[in-house]
Amino acid sequence: MAVLELLRCSLQWYGRRSIVSLSSLPETHQMLHKTCRDFAENELKPLAAKFDREHLYPKEQIRKMGELGLMAVDVPENLGGSGLDYLAYSIAMEEISRGCASTGVIMSVNNSLYLGPILKFGTEKQKETFIPPFAAGEQIGCFALSEPGNGSDAGAASTVARPSDDGWTLSGTKSWITNGYEAEASVVFATTDTSKKHKGISAFIVPKSATGLSLGKKEDKLGIRGSSTCSLIFEDCSIPKDNLLGEPGLGFKIAMMSLDAGRIGIASQALGIAQAALDCAVEYASKRNAFGSPILKLQTIQTKIANMALQIESARLLTWRAAALKDSGKPFSKEAAMAKLAASEAATYSAHQCIQVLGGMGYVTDMPAERHYRDARITEIYEGTSEIQRLVIASNIIKEYGYS
Ligand SMILES: Cc1cc2nc3c(=O)[nH]c(=O)nc-3n(C[C@H](O)[C@H](O)[C@H](O)COP(=O)(O)OP(=O)(O)OC[C@H]3O[C@@H](n4cnc5c(N)ncnc54)[C@H](O)[C@@H]3O)c2cc1C
Repeated sequence: MAVLELLRCSLQWYGRRSIVSLSSLPETHQMLHKTCRDFAENELKPLAAKFDREHLYPKEQIRKMGELGLMAVDVPENLGGSGLDYLAYSIAMEEISRGCASTGVIMSVNNSLYLGPILKFGTEKQKETFIPPFAAGEQIGCFALSEPGNGSDAGAASTVARPSDDGWTLSGTKSWITNGYEAEASVVFATTDTSKKHKGISAFIVPKSATGLSLGKKEDKLGIRGSSTCSLIFEDCSIPKDNLLGEPGLGFKIAMMSLDAGRIGIASQALGIAQAALDCAVEYASKRNAFGSPILKLQTIQTKIANMALQIESARLLTWRAAALKDSGKPFSKEAAMAKLAASEAATYSAHQCIQVLGGMGYVTDMPAERHYRDARITEIYEGTSEIQRLVIASNIIKEYGYS
């Protein structure tokens, strides 16, 4: 409880408002929350099992989310976005993911990992070309950093980009790319100077139509099966000179900054999954009778519910704090890592407990519990594993103590 109280105090500085509960947020955020909750209830929740079972990309839903401004929440309105902040993005992401975690990750990658770096580092021409259709939900983007030989050790990228007469030529393979199948453009990281290790990595915007780009097989995943994951294969892939994002050698920094922001998105996705698991457990326990009364009356069941709620609320406060820090232009790398770690662990814990509360019904596809369990697992892996989040947190703490 003391931790929660401390967090509550540290959250008071969001403008002059408190962000400790939904009702204390600005009206825009409350309205956005309602819009997303209604959309998720009506358009995602009823179809989430089908998207999962049939590996279906929610094309129509993404288009509608574009119309609602959810595919570019913090992008300025003149580029087709909603012009809101990261707190708004977090709130929207949680509600969308509560309805469908696959749709959540598609939204997250488009917002944080594709549009985010282009907005921050792109030229005016790049922004005009590669943002508006992606903000509108007509097209989606992806972010290609991981490779078959390196995930956590992202600085060891072996994909290279060589200058050519009229542009760049990319060679190598990027693996595990979310939205890879549908993406019309990718932010891709490739080494332009191998002698400089991670400082020789540059970022590029690669359209799907680029000559020499092909897709690997669609991965058959445990969860978030409505989103596609595949390799991007670059075989002497030619792109124009103007598609370099930022300066040569800035790629690793762009990737790390994008992932810091992305972790707020994935923390919010995890919160949505955790909340859906808690909703499912409470509703089922209120209806299921054992030994003459609803199991909701049993203290063992109540303990599970209390533990789930405690983890979810703690993680939500951490997530909103990280978003508020980003919105106020303050450093938020440690806080985003804490949020992602806490929220992903809350999601796996809550989904696990949800199955336990449902007993046998938790183990079959008639109920969403088993899907939440499968969907939750990835939140501890992508955009930095839990082990990497602990390294990020610890290195920041060690620095704060002056020992680095
Ligand atoms: C469904 C899915 C979607 C993805 N989407 C994307 C995407 O859109 N774009 C993209 O670029 N990548 C994406 N990824 C890749 C993802 O980010 C990586 O899988 C993740 O970063 C882990 O890398 P790895 O799989 O290579 O594991 P490894 O780095 O090989 O790690 C294996 C294990 O070793 C541990 N480990 C590694 N280094 C350390 C260390 N220094 N200290 C302690 N433990 C360590 C890890 O925590 C892990 O437990 C996706 C992956 C999946 C599965």
